[in-house]
Amino acid sequence: MPGFELFGDLERNEVNDVLDNGVLMRYGFDGMRNGHWKAKDLETELRNQLKVKHAQLVSSGTAAVSVALASAGIGSGDEVIMPTFTFVASFEAIMMLGAIPVLVDIDDTLTLDPEAVEAAITPKTKAIMPVHMCGSMANLDALQTICKTHDLILIEDSSQATGATYKGKPLGSIGDLGCLSLDFVKIITAGEGGAVLTNNEKFYKHADHYSDHGHDHVGKDRGAESHPFLGYNFRISELHAAVGLAQLRRLDEFVAIQKKNYSIIKEALAEIPEVTFRTVPEGGEESYSFLNFFLPDLEISRNVSNTFKTNGVDACFHYFDNSWHYIREWNHLKNMKSLYPISEEVKRGLAYLQTKTFDQSDHYIARNISCLIKLTWTERQVKEKAEKMVTIIKSHLKQ
Ligand SMILES: *Cc1c(COP(=O)(O)O)cnc(C)c1O
Repeated sequence: MPGFELFGDLERNEVNDVLDNGVLMRYGFDGMRNGHWKAKDLETELRNQLKVKHAQLVSSGTAAVSVALASAGIGSGDEVIMPTFTFVASFEAIMMLGAIPVLVDIDDTLTLDPEAVEAAITPKTKAIMPVHMCGSMANLDALQTICKTHDLILIEDSSQATGATYKGKPLGSIGDLGCLSLDFVKIITAGEGGAVLTNNEKFYKHADHYSDHGHDHVGKDRGAESHPFLGYNFRISELHAAVGLAQLRRLDEFVAIQKKNYSIIKEALAEIPEVTFRTVPEGGEESYSFLNFFLPDLEISRNVSNTFKTNGVDACFHYFDNSWHYIREWNHLKNMKSLYPISEEVKRGLAYLQTKTFDQSDHYIARNISCLIKLTWTERQVKEKAEKMVTIIKSHLKQ
């Protein structure tokens, strides 16, 4: 990861198809486009490859989460349960709809802890949104059971786990709705883009209309189409879809390369007794985009992370002090800093963040190091990297 490491002729040819006829818009202009429908083709291939009935491309992964929530009728004042460890997009997408993000602890899977989820349910809860962080997944069976019991919608944020599966099913295809990101640094990229996946016909129709100003897309001239409800513009362009199409066709190849590189590093680190690895739920198969491991305490983890950086072990993250991925430093959210007024209802809904601590999440994130697995490493480079990591970790354990 990321897929841009291996851009080549496949991507170039798809993009040239689009530029040759000049139609950068995904809808209409039938006469001009010479049979090229890159967004439609990418949706078809996403459906086939991710084994889901419907796929709606949108302009980003953040848009995918907002569109998914809106498609399920979630909005003003509704509570959506999400994890403390994710990317800021998760709460942004919820708040864009006037809904309230309810943050709960993660466990050693580095994703939602089902027990913490259950404890956070209130009469206002409408959805549970696990985020499958760093190529692995939440315990979806447990979360599905909770959703059934409490009549809640399950929305998977699978932005970081395209290509991973749970009990044989692709992530993103299992909940009521699933969201993918195709941004520039994800395993497969379109430059910018995202997708909403669902097996629910009604949610799909909503997503299709909502992401294009409410257009009903019944096949008439665009100007003559009606709009059953309000929508916005979250469309993907044909240029982005063209790149995404080439990349999706390479997803299996990318996962296989990552698995090989990941396994070499994991095997080396496993020889250190103090190193433990994140738990992957039973029946889960990662996308191998990141290798996540735990060290004995915060201080050792910070020191190892810093020594990695100064010794050329790049792309390893210690998220505890990071302001994009972990609740500890989300001060703009905690202080409700926004360009526009936040409703009183949402303010009341977020007030818990002033006092609530997330000790269980801290326990895992403080000790976690997350290393990105690259596609272009040679076997020799991976082995050298693994050796360097082992030496550095051991040196800090001794002190
Ligand atoms: C990248 C990401 C998103 C948002 O995707 P964009 O395409 O960058 O808007 C959402 N959630 C998670 C967990 C992500 O990593």
